Amino acid sequence: VKRIGILTSGGDAPGMNAAIRAVTRVALKSGVEVYGIYDGYRGLVEGYIEPLTRNDVGDIIDRGGTILGSARLPEFKDPAVQEKGIMQLRKREIDALVVIGGDGSYRGALALTNQGINCIGLPGTIDNDITCTDSTIGFDTALSTVVEAVDKLRDTSSSHHRCSVVEVMGNHCGDLALWSGIACGAEIVITAQTGFEETEVLERLKEFDVVKKKRHAIVVISEKITDVDAFAKKVSLNTGFSGRATVLGHVQRGGSPTPIDRVLASRMGEKAVDLLLAGIGGQCVGIKDNQIIAVPIEEALDMPRASRKRLQDLFDRLV
Ligand code: ATP
Repeated sequence: VKRIGILTSGGDAPGMNAAIRAVTRVALKSGVEVYGIYDGYRGLVEGYIEPLTRNDVGDIIDRGGTILGSARLPEFKDPAVQEKGIMQLRKREIDALVVIGGDGSYRGALALTNQGINCIGLPGTIDNDITCTDSTIGFDTALSTVVEAVDKLRDTSSSHHRCSVVEVMGNHCGDLALWSGIACGAEIVITAQTGFEETEVLERLKEFDVVKKKRHAIVVISEKITDVDAFAKKVSLNTGFSGRATVLGHVQRGGSPTPIDRVLASRMGEKAVDLLLAGIGGQCVGIKDNQIIAVPIEEALDMPRASRKRLQDLFDRLV
């Protein structure tokens, strides 16, 4: 391996820059040149590719987002489009690639590997929706952002006997909701895993009001489950709380990465380079029981979503 490329793809996540820095620095120290590919697979296909020096990745470890930019290019599923990307790499004698993104990005990485360009995937997404890793790069930072926001909502909810319905991201993965629910002492958490029975949730809220005499209630709900504004209105109509919906939205994607995310990204970036130097491709990096691991991408994409039953049970015992 003489030259490797690196790109970020899909939704951005805090810590992607720390991963770019780690890959670049570790590779350069191993005598391998590094090329930054801008705007994900789009930049790959269009040849928006520049060398990265040690200094190019200085002063970025604390920055959110990705200095390489990210994009979605649905056409990249087409082998003819992939071929264009491969041509761009061959022209520059780049023989391997690190792809930081979510499972869609992994599919692209697998397709390239199958066509002779070894790729390693790093999990860069705030959603924590990649089963082969306990944690994705960006999850811890997004969790901190959610917790800070919900803590503030709780203060004002108490003053006004309010029920705050807070929608968080997660893309069908309930982790952000469940973890923040535990961390904030929420009354109710609703995820794809818990399911959503509206009347039952309203009944439980009434109980918090009438029986438990709570001054406020926090409901944390994953995105893509229900219209939270409509639900908050029903809370006002059917319970003693005044319901208010807050959609946290893209603030969850931003911010300086937490130390946990920076260290995770650095460890994963190092692993990606080591795998490529060993001539290995088609794998994605994860962390399991605090060990950095690598799993074939095909296997990772096939894994059923991890059960969070133990955490859900804990939540239920805490309310
Ligand atoms: P997240 O969902 O966390 O934002 P992601 O990587 O899953 O990240 P996607 O939009 O699903 O985001 O995928 C990112 C890019 O990966 C797509 O725009 C496309 O360029 C490429 N991609 C997705 N699926 C495939 C596929 N089946 N084959 C090749 N490339 C793919």
